[in-house]
Formats: sequence, C-alpha cells, structure tokens
Amino acid sequence: MTTPAETIGIGASSDTAFVEFRHELFAAGLLHPTSVDGVYGKSAAYERIVEGVLASVTRLGVGRFEAVHFPPVLARSTFDRTGYLSSFPDLMGSLHVFEGNDRAHTELVRRYEADGDWSEILKPAEVVVCSAACHALYPLCTGRLPEAGRWFEIQGYCFRHEPSPDPTRMQTFRMHELVCVGDPDMAVTHRDSGLADGLRMLRDLGLEMDAVPANDPFFGRLGTILANTQLEEALKIEGVTPIYPTEKPTAIMSANYAQDHFGSSFSIETASGNVAHSSCVAFGIDRITLALLHAHGLDPYRWPPEVTDRLWR
Ligand code: ATP
Ligand code: ZN
Repeated sequence: MTTPAETIGIGASSDTAFVEFRHELFAAGLLHPTSVDGVYGKSAAYERIVEGVLASVTRLGVGRFEAVHFPPVLARSTFDRTGYLSSFPDLMGSLHVFEGNDRAHTELVRRYEADGDWSEILKPAEVVVCSAACHALYPLCTGRLPEAGRWFEIQGYCFRHEPSPDPTRMQTFRMHELVCVGDPDMAVTHRDSGLADGLRMLRDLGLEMDAVPANDPFFGRLGTILANTQLEEALKIEGVTPIYPTEKPTAIMSANYAQDHFGSSFSIETASGNVAHSSCVAFGIDRITLALLHAHGLDPYRWPPEVTDRLWR
C-alpha cells in the first residue's frame, strides 16, 4: 500500500534519522503530510498531548502571570517595531491581499488561469504572520509600568519560513511564553527562574534535559556579530533534549533576556522612569510534543502513568 508519505516522496528507506522519525509519525497517523515541508495536519492523540503540555506551562505561571492568547497574525505596524525584519528577514512571512477593482480582478484571474504569477497583483495586508508569540504583547505595555512590572503568559501560533524534512522544524508551530517586562533585575531573575522551572517541568515529564548557551539564527554577516555578542553576554539559554542520535540535541524551550530591546522600541518605562527591560521563557509546544512521542513511544495512551498523570490531571 502506498502511504501518504510515500506519495509525496518520503520513504522509510532514507538513512537520515529525522526522515525516519517523520515517517513513523505519518505511519502512526499522528502527523499528516501536506505538499509542503514543515506544515502538517495533526491527530486527536497529538492534540491531546499538546493540551497537556500547554496546561503544564500554564500551571508554572498560575496566579502570577496574566494570560493572553493571540491569533496567528500580527499588526504590520507592531511587526515593524520588533526589529525582526532586520535580524531574520529569511524567516519572516508577510500576508498579501487583493484590493483591486474589476479590471484588476480580470487580470488576476487571467494570470491564474494561465499559470502566471497572480501574486504580483496583491498588496501587503495590514497584518503579517507572527514570528514569536510575545510580539503582540509589547504595544499593550507602552507607557509606565507598575512598580512590580508586568508578567504575562502568552500563547500563540508562529510562522517561520524554514521548510525542513525534520518534523521538529515546522513552518507553523505553537509557542507558549512566560514574559516579564520590568526592571533589569526582574527580567534577569525571571529568565533564570523560568528556565529552572521549565527544565524541572520537562524532566518531570520524563525528558532528559540539558541547559546550553545559545544564539538566535541572525541573518547575514552582521548577524554573526550579533550572535557572538548574544553568546558572550549569555542572553539566551536553551533547554535541549536528545531526539536524533547523530544530531545535536534539539531545543524544546529557550530563555531569553532581551535587555531594553522591546522597552525602547515600544516606549515602555519602568515605575522609576527608566527604559523597561524584558525576558521571555518560551516553550516550543510542538517540539515538546514530538520529544515526548520520541521518548515514550508513539501511542500516548500507553505512556507511563507518572507522565500521563502530570499531563492530564
Ligand atoms: P532553533 O535554533 O531551533 O531554530 P530558535 O532559537 O529560533 O530555535 P526561539 O526563537 O528561541 O527558537 O523559539 C522558542 C522555541 O520555539 C524553541 O526553543 C523551539 O522549541 C520552538 N521553535 C523554534 N523554531 C521552531 C520551528 N521551526 N518548529 C518548531 N518549533 C520551533
Ligand atoms: Zn518572546
């Protein structure tokens, strides 16, 4: 029988570990392929794990963090202020829409029917696709913060244009973040305690976790300098777990100190009138789900009770 995976040219015969893992996920019906790498349909069992992981992150922040769920699109004006375009032009995604008249519509359809480039007729929309769950949050903080700063639990879908056959590198994935906006001390303390809490939560779910200094995948030659500075100043630490024996362990969470980057772009002031600093502890919900499937097997209904009791209590 030809499986959907084989139809789009992915066979179990490949010796690459991630192609094999993806094939297993397809064969178990946990992920469903589309014609594009990194975009998948997900089964009910997969989504049940997602919900358990989301709830586990929520429990870390309960009572202290204000929960905000954002949609997968972000105001273009907000995106422009995040600086994402300068640092990661290769990862961002822009949305375009049709706003023409009847004549433009005729031309659009003509090009479409002739297999031509109809997208040239579209115009940029007032929204882009989200690159990080926390971006939509900063305009809410513009102005003066309360004495204790502000603490948020953010959930959202992200898009990054990094098509890959590795199922842990998706083009759209869920990110759940615990964010602090306040004094530098508060931001650093949150980054470090959030990392420790996150690592403990993931270890309690049976994952082997390590914390390693990391850098963002900044674009171009200038990007190398930014990445080195980020490493030297230890601004970003990733929580990694082994999934592929021949590859580096996979980052399933990260803890980032953004210094005054968002505070100055979005005019956020601390109670004492200084530019606010911020930090994020970000959980890659789809990657955690895949790491759990890898660690405990592809049938979540047969996972050890000490794991499922925590996920679905
Ligand atoms: P990577 O170095 O793996 O590309 P990143 O440093 O760009 O990740 P962050 O911006 O720190 O990732 O995002 C927070 C978390 O979101 C990551 O730790 C990871 O778990 C998850 N994540 C990032 N990119 C992807 C992706 N393409 N597919 C699935 N999850 C992702
Ligand atoms: Zn963030």
